[in-house]
Amino acid sequence: MAKDDGTGTLTAGVIAALRQAKSVFVLTGSGVSAESGLPTFRGVGGLWRTHRVEELASPEGFARDPVLVWTWYNERRAAHERAQPNAGHFAIAQLEDALDDFTLATQNVDSLHLRAGSRNVLELHGSLREARCTNCNAGRPFGAAGLPLDEIDHACGGRWRPDIVWFGESLPRDVWQKAQEAAARADVILVVGTSAVVYPAAALATNYNRSAFVAEINPEATPISNRVACALRGSAAEMLPRIVAALSARRTAPPDLSVGPSG
Ligand SMILES: [Zn+2]
Repeated sequence: MAKDDGTGTLTAGVIAALRQAKSVFVLTGSGVSAESGLPTFRGVGGLWRTHRVEELASPEGFARDPVLVWTWYNERRAAHERAQPNAGHFAIAQLEDALDDFTLATQNVDSLHLRAGSRNVLELHGSLREARCTNCNAGRPFGAAGLPLDEIDHACGGRWRPDIVWFGESLPRDVWQKAQEAAARADVILVVGTSAVVYPAAALATNYNRSAFVAEINPEATPISNRVACALRGSAAEMLPRIVAALSARRTAPPDLSVGPSG
């Protein structure tokens, strides 16, 4: 058996699969944003140290103390605004440019994929750009400063809450449906920077490993590592630009002129 350097050969496998793919589906999680300086969920801000997850990211916690919850999300929104998309985000946007049928589904609410130029983005957990009324379901965008804490109450009697998916809540049905359809028709599925333990997003990664070439890109092994065709150990910012560069080099390479007498 040929010696495998552990990375180069596996990367070549993903590149070969992408080269032939007509339809590509990418699922990303918080690992993609880690190199933009956005720590994963629990790493952000001081409130995690003094409050339980359920107090900050659940409908019950919001009902109890909406000002606390908005203080937390306004801080996160400000952190998103300060962060910049990294090489991983840009590589995913470039991949979309090179393909006719490309879908990105993300568990992130930080908008960095959109800022990097991705267009067909399904935000499975919503986004921190908009608030939604708990009563009448109206929507209201908010900017870098977040939602003013004295405007949490809506005129209808409800309250503005972040339009994101909290613990104990379901994914938005239409978005989830589109993600499933895209995964079902994909030839290649990339699962990037997510531990893929959160159902139902995790299901996207493994339900289609017979119809698609599924590759995982993550610094550490995850529960799906042994159910995918290829597990690349590394960060998105490190691995994806390499893969996309190899793909575009092939596409723009001059025609092979070596035909004829050897020389
Ligand atoms: Zn309302």
